[in-house]
Amino acid sequence: MRSLRLSLLTASLLLATGVAGAATTNTVIPAGAVQTATQLRDKAMADDTGYKIVESLTTEVGPRLAGSPADQRGREWAIAKFKELGFDKVYTETVTYPLWERHSEHAAIVAPFPQPLSLIALGYSAGTPKGGLTAEVVKFDSLDALKKADPASVKGKIVYIGYRMHRQKDGHDYGMGSAVRTQGPVIASKLGAAAYLLRSAGTDEHSRTPHTGVTGFTDPKDAIPAAALSNPDADQLERILGYGKPVSVKLDLDVGFNGSYTGANVIGEITGKKYPDQVVAIGGHLDSWDPGTGAIDDGAGVAIAMAAGKLIHDLPQRPDRTIRVIAFANEEMGLWGGRAYADKHAAEAGKHQLGTESDFGSGKVWRMSASVKPEARGAIEQIAKVLQPIGVAYDTKRPGGGGSDLSQMHGKGMAALSLTQDGTYYFDYHHNANDTLDKIDPRELAQNVAVYAAFSYMAAQAEGDFGSAPGAFAKDGAED
Ligand code: ZN
Ligand code: ZN
Repeated sequence: MRSLRLSLLTASLLLATGVAGAATTNTVIPAGAVQTATQLRDKAMADDTGYKIVESLTTEVGPRLAGSPADQRGREWAIAKFKELGFDKVYTETVTYPLWERHSEHAAIVAPFPQPLSLIALGYSAGTPKGGLTAEVVKFDSLDALKKADPASVKGKIVYIGYRMHRQKDGHDYGMGSAVRTQGPVIASKLGAAAYLLRSAGTDEHSRTPHTGVTGFTDPKDAIPAAALSNPDADQLERILGYGKPVSVKLDLDVGFNGSYTGANVIGEITGKKYPDQVVAIGGHLDSWDPGTGAIDDGAGVAIAMAAGKLIHDLPQRPDRTIRVIAFANEEMGLWGGRAYADKHAAEAGKHQLGTESDFGSGKVWRMSASVKPEARGAIEQIAKVLQPIGVAYDTKRPGGGGSDLSQMHGKGMAALSLTQDGTYYFDYHHNANDTLDKIDPRELAQNVAVYAAFSYMAAQAEGDFGSAPGAFAKDGAED
């Protein structure tokens, strides 16, 4: 009798679950979690933890060129900071990358009007021979024009492209700006050029602060000297070229490859109490270019993610799932940390509940988009509703790329968001000497922390997943 009653009960339960099952396959964030996330959001908006973190990093470590002595100091700083903030688990995962070093760089127009030029060598550029290199400059109007160039017109010369970026909220000119910087030197090298110069991929107009960044050289044997002129110096070179006389430039770049280096991604976790092996992954990259102090790129991203983790840590209870904050190694010279993480964790793509990295400065987040399974769209809408009052609009049409390094994990199947920041002024300071702490507005940074804390917490508490699985989202066009 007892067993019959039990089996009847089981049957009716099964039926009930079956009926409800069709509805509950949708991922839902429980009301209590939405409420806590709303409180987290409001607390974060008035909290300065993020600003204090980026102030500490940019002051105590300063510039953090991958492979330089500051690479290790940055890692030590991150380990200590995670511990100081009370993260439950702090560890590193090694990442090996080519070592490229910058010692000095000088340039001057030799003829027809001799004068110095302000420039900066690009990552993976070759050095010039001792005593420098002098050659005639040949200008191309675009990357496409260079691709079609007759090698005879380029051989032994310094190729120059003057593509100019303009300010935009979404910074879309950087697509071409970075292509001119990464692909241009490789194409010029294949055509037999002696060196490559470009107008900086930057939007500042009146500052002789050239912007560095990586080239596409992957083999030191293919590398030629490559450098970026500041915008006013590019204007000057173009004016001189406009006289129609041969223009020769002397480059003296003491830079180059020097073997390899092993650094590490530094990871801090707030351990989930219910599903500790399931993680919400957020982060930024710990390395920076060397002329500035890496405040907006990407001390801000590291600080936003660390501070979001810290605010969740301070809740009365641990979240259901683990919050994993990753400070990536060497993003700047080719997503080395992000690729190493994705390779190491590819099989655990399904354990990554949702993730995204902050790597576009410290301007306010104004747009959210997501790459998740259709059954999780409702949960994304719940997140959007919490973020809407602080200025974030949900764009249902765009995919979520996961940010720079975590785009690699998204490529392995992690469900991902894009939290787009206002980048109107980002490229004024990006990769140049002006990327310093004063460019960060503490209130805008706090809004970012609020977004990351609220979304991470809701993802950690969700009933159901967002569709992460090995190979999922393979058809997504990653926008980052
Ligand atoms: Zn960056
Ligand atoms: Zn960068």
